[in-house]
Amino acid sequence: MKFCLAGNPNSGKTTLFNALTGSTAHVGNWPGVTVDKREGTYKKLSEKIHIVDLPGIYSMSPYTPEEVVSRNFVLDENPDVIINIVDATNLERNLYLTTQLLETDIPLVIALNMMDVVEKNGDKINLQQLEKAFGVPVVSISAIKKDNIDKLMQVAYETSKKTRKGYSVISKTEYADTFEKFVRLYDNENCKNKIFHAVKMFEADELEVSGYPSVASAALKVKENIDSTEFDGDFEALVADLRYRFISLHMSSVIKKLKKQEVSRSDKADKVLTHRVWGIPLFLLIMFAVFHFTFSEDFLFLNKLFGVEVSGDFWLTFFQLEEAGAVPSPGVWLQSWMGWLTGSLIDLVRGWLSNSPVWLSGLLCDGLLSGLDAIFSFLPQILLLFLFLSIMEDSGYMARAAFIMDRAFRKFGLSGKAFMPLLMCFGCGVPGVMATKTLENEKERRLTMMIAPFFSCGAKLPIWLAFAGIMFAGQYGDLVVFSIYLAGIVVAVIAAMILKFTVMKGETPPFIMELPTYHLPQFKNLMIRLWDKLKHFLYKAATIIAGSIVVLWFLSNFGFAFWNGMVSIEESMLGQIGNVIKYVFYPLGFADGADGWKFVVASITGLLAKEQVVSSLEVLAGAAGFEALLGGLSVAASYSFMLFNLLAVPCMAMVAAVHGEMASGKRTWQAIGFWIATAYVVSMVAYWSIRFWWIGVCLLAVIIAALTYMYCKNKKRLQKGVC
Ligand code: GDP
Ligand code: MG
Repeated sequence: MKFCLAGNPNSGKTTLFNALTGSTAHVGNWPGVTVDKREGTYKKLSEKIHIVDLPGIYSMSPYTPEEVVSRNFVLDENPDVIINIVDATNLERNLYLTTQLLETDIPLVIALNMMDVVEKNGDKINLQQLEKAFGVPVVSISAIKKDNIDKLMQVAYETSKKTRKGYSVISKTEYADTFEKFVRLYDNENCKNKIFHAVKMFEADELEVSGYPSVASAALKVKENIDSTEFDGDFEALVADLRYRFISLHMSSVIKKLKKQEVSRSDKADKVLTHRVWGIPLFLLIMFAVFHFTFSEDFLFLNKLFGVEVSGDFWLTFFQLEEAGAVPSPGVWLQSWMGWLTGSLIDLVRGWLSNSPVWLSGLLCDGLLSGLDAIFSFLPQILLLFLFLSIMEDSGYMARAAFIMDRAFRKFGLSGKAFMPLLMCFGCGVPGVMATKTLENEKERRLTMMIAPFFSCGAKLPIWLAFAGIMFAGQYGDLVVFSIYLAGIVVAVIAAMILKFTVMKGETPPFIMELPTYHLPQFKNLMIRLWDKLKHFLYKAATIIAGSIVVLWFLSNFGFAFWNGMVSIEESMLGQIGNVIKYVFYPLGFADGADGWKFVVASITGLLAKEQVVSSLEVLAGAAGFEALLGGLSVAASYSFMLFNLLAVPCMAMVAAVHGEMASGKRTWQAIGFWIATAYVVSMVAYWSIRFWWIGVCLLAVIIAALTYMYCKNKKRLQKGVC
């Protein structure tokens, strides 16, 4: 048996799907998280039930990819029952889709979700009235608390055994007779769900018209006899209106709200958090707080502001500090513990291997273990940052961030809808690119993929952390990391604007998004996400990274005549090659000096996977050590190096994902070229601007002038009413 879950975005479909199937699909507190359908099984009934989680939709019209996926599934794949998840806190809006699902002949059950919230608000919903109005069973559930979900399945199972005939709200209105004629037009067509098709034909739905051309021409004749002046000949709008009339007719008897007038707590919070002026500064402040908590060496500015220092043997050991210093943030503290742990482990292995051949201890200790150590010691901070990002997403704040950004971006001709997939790229670019499926507009989609890698993903974090601990004597670690994240956003915005005004011209589609109500993040959701991240990280460390460390170690310890034994790193294969290609990177600053080629090689290995950069540097650092190597770079060169790695090709997985979505080799190559060119130009500009401040000032002036120009141009267009 096959049951499908259909409902609006954010109504809790995936939560219910996970609860029923024991799966761990991504739950997100904003629309558009599920684009493809997802499948699983429910085993608690006498028969095994196949469950399909459809993407969230507001309507069965053919305007977005989600709508098409859901509509095709419902019409073509013959599910035994549709479970329509309805967010009970937003009943009227959600039932709009229900009126459309009713038009199919498929058995239907309404699952009234989020009843925990309804009860907490003190509202009352009359289930019997709702059942009577829609003529289908209604079960009240809470997907998150798993309340009543087995009962829902039981009812759905029983319902699936009965047949149902499609019903349209039009048949109770003044258009009933006309509609009857539409239904009869399908008498000679061999198709199921006739009522559904008739309604779609009445709406002049484009998929329906092209699918049944002969019915369509007959339908036009019927329509000639309808007086359509009242609704301007827009039959789709007419039907929408009839649906809402039907819903509001029944609403008064179905729902009794306790506090009608009172502004909800969510709305109150939004007054502040999405404020016209304060919205963006608040967003930046929240982000900074997160970075500070995770990366700062001077937690709560206790040292800078109040001169607090850590001293005493116990505290020094507790915070893993060698000498008295500021109180570290929890993230830094965890990192030092992890560093201590992995460091001791390496010493232990080194001890065991003290009598073995040089190459073996070299390969294991200086190669493999130090390389892995370099990225592993950052694991606590990576997880901590993800915990915060997940909390922001699950609570509903990230959706606001997209909303605030949209308001700002629209002024420059960009849409905020793209911001949601882009925010996902802070985690990993691959799901971010997948999520661009939610953008209807093809150009907007391609544009979004082009700038997606500029958002700093988790794999790049170890690079920033390595520098954060060394630049400015580790004093401003939080600011260093924060500035890189911001730089990524700024470059992405500027790049998007340039593309938009040159090669990817087009109108910005409107951004309509419902802001979900705030709620406390679910502990389980957070843990699922952290676990996913950890799994991914461990898997990569054990495979690609460990493998390439071994290769890199070999290339950097043996010359082209490798049978002659180990050589110094300068004479190694990698050293010789690196010393040639480094000239290409000279203008970027970091290729300078005796160690310059090492940064070049590390950046190149980073094109395969960004975790590689730090482990490569660790392997290449040799006896002098990692910190000495990084410390050799000036501030300007450090930034240039970080920016290059931030903006260049992120990893092969991302290239594959973009290739899959763009479905064109040429476009994929264009994207790769674009990323490398942007990385090169931005790093070069940053390097020279930091070294000579007047270059920076001139540049800033040019950027501001360009932004103002685009703003004014766009404003004129908006005034002309083009958008
Ligand atoms: P989908 O877009 O329909 O797949 O919705 P999701 O399953 O991703 O859920 C959207 C948000 O609603 C998530 O933050 C869930 O934690 C939350 N949610 C889902 N079901 C319930 C519920 O029964 N009660 C409450 N309070 N929240 C829920
Ligand atoms: Mg979902």
